[in-house]
Amino acid sequence: MERYNKITDKNQREILLLKSFACSYGKCAFCNYILDNSYNENEINQINIDLLDKVTGVFGCLEIINSASVFELPLKTLEYIRKIANEKKMKTLYFEVYYSYLKRLDEIIKFFSAQEVRFKVGIETFDNNYRTQILKKNFILNDYTQLSNFYSCCLLICTKGQTREQISNDIETALKYFKEITINVFINNDTEITRDEELVKWFLTEKYPLLIKQKNIEILIDNKDLGVYVQ
Ligand code: SF4
Repeated sequence: MERYNKITDKNQREILLLKSFACSYGKCAFCNYILDNSYNENEINQINIDLLDKVTGVFGCLEIINSASVFELPLKTLEYIRKIANEKKMKTLYFEVYYSYLKRLDEIIKFFSAQEVRFKVGIETFDNNYRTQILKKNFILNDYTQLSNFYSCCLLICTKGQTREQISNDIETALKYFKEITINVFINNDTEITRDEELVKWFLTEKYPLLIKQKNIEILIDNKDLGVYVQ
């Protein structure tokens, strides 16, 4: 288990995998990281405070992930993030958030008024049918203008049933609407979703070499690539 790391190549930042209450949605067919969620508020806060004490502020940028949305962190943890962010003179904070929280993003922006807050949202694919029916992520995207409220998005690629065209289109669309994107190459994780090895081979040979050169694209070939994980 690793919950703290420094990302030193692109987009340098410290990253923390905090513990949180359960993801408010919790039904994505590919997601096993919600197993880290807890209902024990004291335990959550204690783990998170110990982790936040490791933050140095070396890059002025901190990314918080929590196997849910920022809104599922307890208030005490949020207040401690703010304290550390201010003490370490952080300029930028990243938080992950489920799409349905779109109308509440301002609450977090106001709470962390001394930092630029950047929200990362899991879009996974722009194919509404695949997202809702296969991945079981239950939001429909028709109005892309709303996406400007988020800074960055995650795509999930190389799952059975996807096509090369779908993946190429997803990457192209994500780059059009978000300042940064993270491409997650799916790894089998005992959920009902499975990996398509042919797509992985194609992606790694045809797409990866060019995409990886772009500053605003992070590609996670292994889900431990950010150096934080609980498995
Ligand atoms: S919204 Fe995120 S954390 Fe929640 S179930 Fe889906 S992928 Fe997992």
